[in-house]
Amino acid sequence: MSRWTNPDEWARLCSGASCVICLRGGPLNVLTELESSWLTLGEDSPMRGYCCLVFRRHAVELHDLTMDEGAAFMRDIQRVSRVLKPLTGAVKLNYEVHGNSLPHLHMHFFPRYVGDAFEGGPINPRAVTSPVYAPGELEALRQRLLAALGLAPGTG
Ligand SMILES: [Zn+2]
Repeated sequence: MSRWTNPDEWARLCSGASCVICLRGGPLNVLTELESSWLTLGEDSPMRGYCCLVFRRHAVELHDLTMDEGAAFMRDIQRVSRVLKPLTGAVKLNYEVHGNSLPHLHMHFFPRYVGDAFEGGPINPRAVTSPVYAPGELEALRQRLLAALGLAPGTG
């Protein structure tokens, strides 16, 4: 069962009319605003260092972006990617674009680690049931990520 089985609801989500991100004015757990997207990083993460880039205007598919928007989104993706890997010590970054339940363009960044629970395969976020951060660890990571992006905390 998914939102696809209700064509009217799916059309309202895709048009933005009932998109929770647009209705709220942005996603949850925003760390900072980049050129074309919000960078989010929250407690509810399937992997240490998981973050997400959410495009700032409502769009569903990558081909919905103008060429300039696509280039700007890619600059944001590369900017985050470039700092996230060394910051987390990840052996590899995984990038995922789905939008199957929330069709507002966003890209997930999953840092992958030697010995992580999904080594050798893709991440299954639904299989992660316990917190990945110790108390205080997330806030420290948020500050380090902002600094690595060249953004002073609180000025994003
Ligand atoms: Zn939206």
